[in-house]
Amino acid sequence: MPPNLPYTAPLASSPYPYTMPERPTATTHTSSTLQEVVSHAKEYGFLYPSSDIYDGLQAVYDYGPHGAALKRNLQNLWWQSMTHLHQNIVGIDAAIFMDPRIWQASGHVESFSDPLIDNKDSQKRYRADALIEEHAAMLAQKNMAKEGEELLKSMHQLLKTEDLVGLHALIVSAGIQCPVAKTSNWTAVRQFNLMFSTQAGALAEEANTIYLRPETAQGIFVNFPNVLKTNRMKVPFGIAQIGKAFRNEIVARQFIFRMREFEQMEMQFFVRPGTEAHWFDYWKEHRMQWHLALGIPNAQLRLQPHEQLAHYAQAAVDIEYAFPFGQKEIEGIHSRTDFDLKNHQVHSKKKIQYFDPEINQNYTPYVIETSLGCDRMILALLCQGLVQETVVVDEKPKSRTYLKLPPALAPIKAAILPLLKKDGLPERAQKIFNELRLDFAVAYEDGQSIGKRYARQDLIGTPYCITIDHQTLEDETVTLRERDSMEQHRLPAQALRSFLFEKVTLQSILQKLPNI
Ligand code: ATP
Repeated sequence: MPPNLPYTAPLASSPYPYTMPERPTATTHTSSTLQEVVSHAKEYGFLYPSSDIYDGLQAVYDYGPHGAALKRNLQNLWWQSMTHLHQNIVGIDAAIFMDPRIWQASGHVESFSDPLIDNKDSQKRYRADALIEEHAAMLAQKNMAKEGEELLKSMHQLLKTEDLVGLHALIVSAGIQCPVAKTSNWTAVRQFNLMFSTQAGALAEEANTIYLRPETAQGIFVNFPNVLKTNRMKVPFGIAQIGKAFRNEIVARQFIFRMREFEQMEMQFFVRPGTEAHWFDYWKEHRMQWHLALGIPNAQLRLQPHEQLAHYAQAAVDIEYAFPFGQKEIEGIHSRTDFDLKNHQVHSKKKIQYFDPEINQNYTPYVIETSLGCDRMILALLCQGLVQETVVVDEKPKSRTYLKLPPALAPIKAAILPLLKKDGLPERAQKIFNELRLDFAVAYEDGQSIGKRYARQDLIGTPYCITIDHQTLEDETVTLRERDSMEQHRLPAQALRSFLFEKVTLQSILQKLPNI
């Protein structure tokens, strides 16, 4: 067992369910399709296609005002849960451009590629493995799951041996057709490197070619000696980083699930060789608990071991979320051995080792990586949160849509709403707004009817609406309306600050998480 850090046994079920208040009036409850999520995200200022007025740039998206706030809250939560809750994890912010030799050392120049295939009739390009996977899923739907499984098994075998000719033969023999041309007139399968490159400096020579990083991890590995020294770290310890990554994905689909420019939240945990299996299990469990603490239901999550390991990995598991388009990876946990540090040692010709005073030995630490896609997490939160339901009001069914975001991540924590735009109510409301805005992201709105204002806040995920009415002027109380239950309570205006502190700050999630 490694020193210092306690390890708790895996939990059979989530200890942290995100319990919502009872909804006795809700009769039906439907989850949303991807198309509904995409439309809602655009309509309410979460996500826009990049370069929208030029008809959009494929597989790139911009975050609007509410999306940017949601993303910032998510990143703060991740950052704090890594660097505040763990005394042995520190954060860095490395540059996107790095010495191109780094990508030789990491193996990305050589092997960060996907197998692609073109249909000669439609001129459409596909990822060969994605084509086969989709065909297998289609077979499963037609009660031919066994054939689908066989197909996938053959594919994994061929991918393992990088047999591109065999992959082509498998596609043809399975009768897989291009969804556009409906023919099997395929080119040969070839490898396509996913890294974007550009030229640094004035001379466009090969020596100046640099890459846009396809993962943030390498910025951590090459800073290992610096951080070790400047922060006097002791193994086991971690380095966390949030940043952009770029991949020239062949098939970029499913909204922000697969983009060419995206953001990762990665942490590399450096451990004594021989303890990596223990730490792999530890982080697998810990990261699952993080997602559960955020309110993602257990039933929507799945731990899926990798069929095929990356060139650097000893073990790997994905945390998958049940998106409307299927169960897909949102986070990867990888046991990366000492592959990266050792290769950087060779390529940089600098010694990258750790002296472990407990065993009086020098060694190259092994690494456990947790790699969460920020945008995929946002998509999971939007899919999970967009709720359409029918509620019975005065014995009449009424449909309503709202965004059930975890309050700590919601772009706006509370909306301050004077009931009327007269009688001194706006002035009183403005005073409350000014008091709260120093600590919370709050909004003030005095236009339209109160019902319309509630509905609009529901659609952007604001957990609380605070209404100021004539009674407020008399007894200093306000009405607090809860987004999910639509229940209303009277509360002293003075109590608002402590109420919101308890309900909407990141602490409300952080305190549910284990720490080391
Ligand atoms: P996939 O198999 O879906 O291509 P991956 O296994 O290549 O993903 P990793 O290299 O493990 O992904 O990257 C870690 C995380 O980064 C992923 O779990 C995902 O959340 C995110 N990610 C990877 N590629 C993309 C992308 N093109 N767009 C958005 N997020 C991405």
